[in-house]
Amino acid sequence: MEENLFRPVRKHGKRRWLIALLLIVAAAAAAWVVVFRVNRFSLSVIPEGPGDTILEYGQTFTDPGASVLLRGSLFWKDGIDPGVEVRTEGTVEDGHLGKHTITYSAQLRSLRASASRTVRVVDTQCPVITLTPDDPEDLLPGKDYVEAGFAATDNFDGDITDRVIRIEEEGLVTYAVLDSSGNPAFAERKIPIVDRTPPVISLIGGAEYSFAVGTCFADPGYSAEDNMDGDLTDAVEVSGEVDWLTPGTYPVTYLVRDAVGNEASLTRNFTVRGAARQDTVTPKGKVIYLTFDDGPGPYTHALLRVLKKYDVKATFFVVGDESPELLREIVNGGHSIGVHTASHDYEKIYSDPQAYFRDLYDMQETIRRETGVETWLMRFPGGSSNTVSRRFSKGIMSTLTRAVEDAGFRYFDWNVDSDDAGNAHTAKQVRENVIEGLMNHRVSVVLQHDIHDYSVDAVEDIILWAQDRGYRFLPLESDSPTAHHGVNN
Ligand code: ZN
Repeated sequence: MEENLFRPVRKHGKRRWLIALLLIVAAAAAAWVVVFRVNRFSLSVIPEGPGDTILEYGQTFTDPGASVLLRGSLFWKDGIDPGVEVRTEGTVEDGHLGKHTITYSAQLRSLRASASRTVRVVDTQCPVITLTPDDPEDLLPGKDYVEAGFAATDNFDGDITDRVIRIEEEGLVTYAVLDSSGNPAFAERKIPIVDRTPPVISLIGGAEYSFAVGTCFADPGYSAEDNMDGDLTDAVEVSGEVDWLTPGTYPVTYLVRDAVGNEASLTRNFTVRGAARQDTVTPKGKVIYLTFDDGPGPYTHALLRVLKKYDVKATFFVVGDESPELLREIVNGGHSIGVHTASHDYEKIYSDPQAYFRDLYDMQETIRRETGVETWLMRFPGGSSNTVSRRFSKGIMSTLTRAVEDAGFRYFDWNVDSDDAGNAHTAKQVRENVIEGLMNHRVSVVLQHDIHDYSVDAVEDIILWAQDRGYRFLPLESDSPTAHHGVNN
């Protein structure tokens, strides 16, 4: 049958064509109804990209746009691009924070659709506080702290310096600010410590310090402490001289400055005490003071036996510490003992007063230690008139003869010289020299040396000669005649 449809139209074929045509029309109408009436269309606008957006202030907004979709309820359910234009309304305005709405709309015949996106522009960046550094010139002691300056800027608000809250307390300045979005900023500045506290000087031994002439002077010490710089003892400047050989009061000033110039000073008075001079009591009658220097030595014991035999008391100006037994024997024999120095070394003791006094006190201590006697009797090696000292220190005997007496010593020279350290080398020569001298004085202070056997050997004859003629032998005491020579240096 179907083959016939394509055969040449016959009479009865016209009707068939018509029917066919009607069928086609009916089918098309049915299809149109199905597609355009039963299948209902809808139009959508779909924003591209992430939709609602949060944008940091300052960032540029690029609108991703929107697309249009046409969907049918039966056909084109997934939608098709109808190819219509999307209209955009609204922008993200520059310089504004907050919510901006962009609306997209489209129209296709009677179908309309729209959608929108919101763009929120926010400021989450904190402001920045900038501190001007301190100028050390403005931080001198005595001045209050002067703010060196600060500024606050914000990415949105710009200069917000006038909104900064500044709090200064206990050496710290705190700065705080909020921008218009509530973002905070903080800064701190430690106020450089302005030191106005001077150091403190401490004087060891106190502000009044006294000592006896001849006590080898050394500052008893001091210290300086500063609140910032710590120990400043080494920085203390000491001014003022103490003449430890001459009685008097000597102010000494201690001055120290800390690193920023705070100054402290103290004055200490050094009082150098001089001993009162002892009056001389000249004994009555004919008196002989036998004195023996430079011992004790190998002949001292024999000499003490002779003196004991005649009950004669003499005086020994001793040196050294090698014969403590003999020192005790001298003292136990009732004789006077005095200091002749420890070393008897001219170069050492006469080079400066300090060396002399050190040696003097050294021997005084030896005697005290070995015999229990604190002696203040002394004789200068070479006598006070010696000129040998000039080689080592000019004028030292002038200084020492005064200073030893201020120190409480009593020094003795002699007026009868046995010359046993010079030209007399026999007992006979010694005896003759001494006796000749004795005949010229009512009160004689005789110089001998018990380190020479010939000198010791002469003693018994001298005693016998003198006792026959009514002389008395006495040991030197602190008020005895001193027989001082003139000072030649
Ligand atoms: Zn001597």
